[in-house]
Amino acid sequence: SKGEGRGRFNFFVPELQDRAEARRALELGLRAALPRGEFTLHYQPQLDLGTRTLAGFEALLRWQRPGLGLVPPAEFIPLAEEIGLIGTIGEWVLREATSEAARWPAPLRVAVNVSPPQFQNGRLVGSVQAALAASGLPGDRLELEVTESALLEDGGWGTMAQLQALKMLGLRISLDDFGTGYSSLSQLRSFPFDRVKIDRSFADDAAVVRAVAALGTSLGIRTTAEGVETPAQLERVRADGCTEAQGYLLGRPVPAGEVPEIIRRLGG
Ligand code: C2E
Ligand code: CA
Ligand code: CA
Ligand code: CA
Repeated sequence: SKGEGRGRFNFFVPELQDRAEARRALELGLRAALPRGEFTLHYQPQLDLGTRTLAGFEALLRWQRPGLGLVPPAEFIPLAEEIGLIGTIGEWVLREATSEAARWPAPLRVAVNVSPPQFQNGRLVGSVQAALAASGLPGDRLELEVTESALLEDGGWGTMAQLQALKMLGLRISLDDFGTGYSSLSQLRSFPFDRVKIDRSFADDAAVVRAVAALGTSLGIRTTAEGVETPAQLERVRADGCTEAQGYLLGRPVPAGEVPEIIRRLGG
């Protein structure tokens, strides 16, 4: 019968079965996480290199998984995207981040990561509008960070229309992880980006940082250096023309309760 051949294979490869079970457990846990209130956001400061003061914070998702501590997003966001949960989770992130940022002194802004599938379900613009309305946060204090893969679907036309609608609400749009994808240059020109974030794998590559910062200047786009961990890197990315910086040197992601302390330290 069916399963005699291929099915039996699993019984003799315990690691495969373990992995399938771990994934099933992860999926079950993930489906229950939102109703159980297990998600939380941490906030990492972003520094304006011109004024050397705080520009805002990036909201980074964490899952407090019972008995397993704080799970980093790399371990569950890909699965959430795959099983169709990222839309709902992303809407929670938007509501939570905007209601938190509404208590920060203006003009500090919050940057929220948006997954490619969130551009596919037709709800993104509406949920941004709802989050702004509920929190009272002005649209120009909300930034969305998108990666190139979001722009590749259907040639990017559906995404383009949504980005333009978001810009009408006053939002800024960042191209995240710049340099790690395929068609970065043409996308920088065709989409209405306000900022590129240079992936942290380039933090030590002065030639790349300088070239992207120069490109940003000529296109009128701001440039954030990610993954700045040392004072030397900070001085270099500033000298190379980046307008903003983010990284462990300036501050690690922290729970909302520690944000006021960072605002005092770095100046709002
Ligand atoms: P990302 O958007 O590129 O976020 C920056 C990541 O780099 C964060 O990891 C941050 O903690 C880490 N980082 C910041 N400064 C440094 C540094 O100086 N050195 C090093 N080594 N790392 C640094 P995190 O929080 O684990 O997030 C990983 C990724 O998960 C994010 O990468 C983003 O793609 C995704 N993500 C996080 N939160 C969300 C969310 O709410 N929604 C979606 N769709 N994706 C999210
Ligand atoms: Ca990001
Ligand atoms: Ca990034
Ligand atoms: Ca990323």
